[in-house]
Order: sequence, then structure tokens, then C-alpha cells
Amino acid sequence: MLRRVGPSLRHFLLERKNSAGYSSHSGEAKMSRPVQARRLEGIDKNIWVEFVKLAATYSTVNLGQGFPDFPPPDFLKEAFVRALSGENHMLHQYTRAFGHPPLVKILAQFFGKLLGQDLDPMTNVMVTVGAYQALFCCFQAFVDDGNEVIIIEPFFDCYEPMVKMAGGMPVFVPLRPKAPKDGKLMSSADWQLDPAELASKFSERTKAIVLNSPNNPLGKVFSRGELEVIADLCVKHDVLCISDEVYEWLVYDGKEHIRIASLQGMWDRTVIIGSAGKTFSATGWKVGWTVGPNRLLQHLCTVHQNSVYHCATVAQEAVAQGFQRELKLYGKPESYFVQLPKELQQKRDWLIQSLDAVGMKPIIPEGTYFLVADISEFKSDVPDVPDSDEPYDSRFAKWMVKNKGLAAIPLSAFYCGAHKNNYNHFIRFCFAKEEATLKAANDILQKWKREKTNP
Ligand code: PMP
Repeated sequence: MLRRVGPSLRHFLLERKNSAGYSSHSGEAKMSRPVQARRLEGIDKNIWVEFVKLAATYSTVNLGQGFPDFPPPDFLKEAFVRALSGENHMLHQYTRAFGHPPLVKILAQFFGKLLGQDLDPMTNVMVTVGAYQALFCCFQAFVDDGNEVIIIEPFFDCYEPMVKMAGGMPVFVPLRPKAPKDGKLMSSADWQLDPAELASKFSERTKAIVLNSPNNPLGKVFSRGELEVIADLCVKHDVLCISDEVYEWLVYDGKEHIRIASLQGMWDRTVIIGSAGKTFSATGWKVGWTVGPNRLLQHLCTVHQNSVYHCATVAQEAVAQGFQRELKLYGKPESYFVQLPKELQQKRDWLIQSLDAVGMKPIIPEGTYFLVADISEFKSDVPDVPDSDEPYDSRFAKWMVKNKGLAAIPLSAFYCGAHKNNYNHFIRFCFAKEEATLKAANDILQKWKREKTNP
């Protein structure tokens, strides 16, 4: 078609281009006006992009980014294959925008049982592209210009830029570590909020608080008492709670994950966020969800329908089948939600021993698949650069990737700019890894320790 009318059309287009002030020389067609929207200012750096690239560049044992290097359970993979190659070819097409019906139905049943609520799959559940998009929907739906959002430090790093992109103001409140008694190893439970300090952050401007229990990066599992303090403040100040519970099944030593939405006055003001990536060890599938009252979820639906609209149908179908299995086996030894934390607890204990043996003091996590360790004893290997803009732990982690072939994430990445240097001698390891990977990490640490002792 273009060829048939070719010469005259091409000539016409060229004329138009030239008369609009363009020339065929690309250099002269450059735009001079600023292109970046103001809301992106100061949020262009991303720790994951940076460290994933470093880990890929240097041949490393990667305990950095949070993903399992073991496969998801067979029943989940088989469900995906069935969805992909079964008779129902409609699974290759769009499904309902706010969640594939089988998935929202089983999520409503499952979480309804856990919360003691009668949940409507069509109004109390919304499926998202991973927990990331669930968070994005919350901030876009609830935060207006100038609204404050309280974030507990250390925090999953995307909360801060997401609040800012929505026009909000993040207000940070740190968990404060207490030294354990009798030379024992520190536990994530030793990191606590100061109730008076937390209360001082609430004001008329506060729209929401973000709670992440079990917490990435520390592995802290908030106790009922701690959650009650937060809940009371939310009720008193009429504040929303965005409850990121993606590690809900990963709790150890008999600890219980308590859902803040189940506390007095909280259901009506809480959005619960979950992730199939963490729940079923399939982070690449990017299936997440939100659960909450329709009063809140309807606004998440507005953001969702005007942004991504919809998530991959096949993956949603497979996750639905995974939950159907888990509902039948709930609390039984064969349940994946029982088996996975059992396996991960062993891996956690193994990494604790390995780090403790070389003097990289681990903080025992009560949950998640992360472990934070104190690098103070290794500081002599990586010279400090006074007045550097980069926190010490970040330089340490980069040095470790390049020189020791071991990847971890600096803890300062989980703090706001003003607080980064208060917590700059820790790094975070992910222990959702095959035995061979953890052993390779142990070998690196042992060798490093030997070199330190016999330089
Ligand atoms: N919240 C927390 C606390 C996380 O650690 C992560 C992933 N690392 C997410 C949300 C995002 O989860 P997803 O991969 O399902 O988007």
C-alpha cells in the first residue's frame, strides 16, 4: 500500500517534517525542554537494579535479592502447565480485571477463614501484578498531595518513592535495637518501636501507616502487644493501615503471624497485601492480591482499571489451584504453608551458625527469608572513606561482591536518606537458597576468616 502511493506520500511527509522545523539531521531535532516529571525527582536510583547488575557482572554466590533458587512446589508447576496446555483456551485471554474469578473466590474463602470474616470475592479481594502493584494501588488510591504516611524503618525500599510519587510525605519512625543480655545473639524481636516516638508521628496530616510484618529486611514478627499499640493509634487518629504481609507463612520457632486487620477497629481501615511469589516460591509469576473492605478496595480498583487493568490469566488460574490445595490441607503436615517454613528454618539456622562462626554477627530473624548480620568485625578489610556520600555498608557490600564473590544487600538501603548512616554496619542475606548455595557462601566466609587470621 505504502509502496504503491510511495513517492508522492513520502514527499508529502518530508515536506511536512521540514515545514514543522525538523530537519533530517537527528542532532538538530533534539528536544530542549525538561522531560522528567517533577514527581520522579530524587527517586531514580534503585537498590535492586544496582545489586542485581553487580551480582550478574561478578561471578557470585547470590544471597542478595529475595528470591528462592529452588523451584516452586510440583503441585503449583503442574497447575500452571495444566492451565497453559489444557482444553480451556480462554485461559490465554483476558479475564476479569480485578481478579480471575476462581482466584478471588478461593482467596475470599481462605482469608475469610483466617480473619473470621465473611468475604465477598467480588468486592473484598483484588488481584494485582505482585505485591508491588498492590502497594502502588494503595498509595495512588489513598494519598493526596501533602498527606503524611508513616513508615517503620527499616522498610521495604519502594514504600518511600511510591508515597512520594503519589504526592505524599513519608514520615519515618525507626525500630530501635536493644542489646541482648548475657552476650546472646541479637534477635529481630530486640528491635522495637518506642511507643511514645511512634505516637509523636501521628497528626492530622497522617493518612496512613505502612506495616510490614513479618518485616523485610529484619525478619521481625510484630507481637500482639506491638500491633495493639499501632492499632490504637490508627483508631485514635482515624488513619488507614497498609499491611504488607507477603511473608505471612514464613515464621519460625512457633511464632504466630497476627493479622492487624483482626484487631479491634482495624478491619474497616486496613488493606492486607499478599504475594504468590513469596507464598509459593514463584516470585517471577508476579501474582499478588489485596484483601479488605469494599469501602477501601473500590478505590484500588479505580487505580488498577486505569493502569495495568489485568494480570496474567494462566498464572492466576495456577495460583487459584495452589490455594484450593492448601485450603484442603490447612494446618496439616503436607501443607506447603507448613513445609516451607520448616525447611526455611533449617536454612536460617545453618546460615546463623555459618555467620556466627566467622564473627559476622547474625540477628536471628523470627520470620521472612532474610537475615541481617553485623559486619563490624570485617571493617578492617574495607577501608572507610570519611565524608563519602555512600553509606559504609553499601561500599562494603559492593566490595564483597567484587572481591569475595558473595552478594548481600546493605541495610542502609532500607532507611530514609537522613537515617542511613545510623544503621550502616549491617548487611542482609537471603537464605531461601539451595543447600549447595548456602554451602558455597559458607566456604567463602570461612576462607575469608582464615585469610584474616593468617594474613
Ligand atoms: N513487600 C515486601 C515486604 C517485599 O519484600 C516484596 C518483594 N521483595 C514485595 C512487597 C513485592 O512482592 P512481589 O514480588 O509480589 O511484587
